[in-house]
Amino acid sequence: MNSDTMTTPTDADDRETLLSVSNLRTSFYTDKEVIRAVDGVDFEIRAGETVGIVGESGSGKSVTARSIMGLVESPGRIEPDSSIQYRGNELTTNSESEWQDIRGGDIAMVFQDPLTSLNPVYTVGNQIKEALRLHQNLRGSEATKEATRLLQEVGIPDAPRRLREYPHQFSGGMRQRAVIAMALACDPSVLICDEPTTALDVTIQAQILELLDKIQEEEGIGIMFITHDMGVIAEVSDRVNVMYAGEFVESAPVEDLFENPKHPYTQGLLESIPSKNAGKRRLDTIEGEVPTPTDDPTYCRFAPRCPKAFDECEVVHPESVQVQSDVDHSAACLLYPDEQSTEERVTTHQAAGDDAAETGESQ
Ligand code: SF4
Repeated sequence: MNSDTMTTPTDADDRETLLSVSNLRTSFYTDKEVIRAVDGVDFEIRAGETVGIVGESGSGKSVTARSIMGLVESPGRIEPDSSIQYRGNELTTNSESEWQDIRGGDIAMVFQDPLTSLNPVYTVGNQIKEALRLHQNLRGSEATKEATRLLQEVGIPDAPRRLREYPHQFSGGMRQRAVIAMALACDPSVLICDEPTTALDVTIQAQILELLDKIQEEEGIGIMFITHDMGVIAEVSDRVNVMYAGEFVESAPVEDLFENPKHPYTQGLLESIPSKNAGKRRLDTIEGEVPTPTDDPTYCRFAPRCPKAFDECEVVHPESVQVQSDVDHSAACLLYPDEQSTEERVTTHQAAGDDAAETGESQ
């Protein structure tokens, strides 16, 4: 996480790549249209690294997470040329039982609403012990001892008593802690957190973020953190991907993204956060809303809302290009590479798009 212990990109490169997502495309087939909820995203998560995905509701963040967990339900499907590799093993060709082994074992997920993960009719202790039985083969007193330790680790006081209580006897923050304990019971290498603090008040939110930071430091797990909140993403991430209408439009190490945002959408998101704009009487907002991506990306999906749009944005799809020479910072926008003329940039993006299409066809 983005803490005192945060490493430079060079250090991070030495760490094991746990998850590698490449050209992930997840679509929903309805009678009327195909919704391209995730439309060609690429990223990696290394051990001990937190990768943030930020964007407005409807940008495709949660579908990305559900795709990695094998939780996309009909009429949705992961398109054939997508790749999700965990420690080098392809997951997209998994059978349901293979997904089940991965889910909750190697890769665990914490949802926004803890009640999604907790069964109201079982005690919290029973549910943690069930996870310990399934994933660590612990039973009886051994499982009780480990469940108690996990509740203590996530900061729940009086753990032996709390184990015997039901989810409704826990506050919202305590429930989210219990869900994190359940996720840890599976001993995961990757933890996917989908808006885990959105439903919590600010104080509890800070405590949960601190807890995740502590767990990561102790266990060295890779974390994928999804949120619509730029303030939270700044606090937790080592690297940030900004998502819009199914695509990553900007990707950079966290400090670089905040100091030097390149894509007009990222710039708009940053203009709208209070902490970065103290003293402004009115915060800027991005007019309009995220469109549902239903057609081929032959243009910039942000164009209708973009204050810098020009004619070509309506007919050329912006590909991801490097926007800085000294850091791994890319943006998908026809304004870059900024050392080129407008005409050259348009040609650069068209050529990159043709290359990508050719690669896709030859696979
Ligand atoms: S490609 Fe054009 S419309 Fe899209 S973000 Fe860049 S300038 Fe704006």
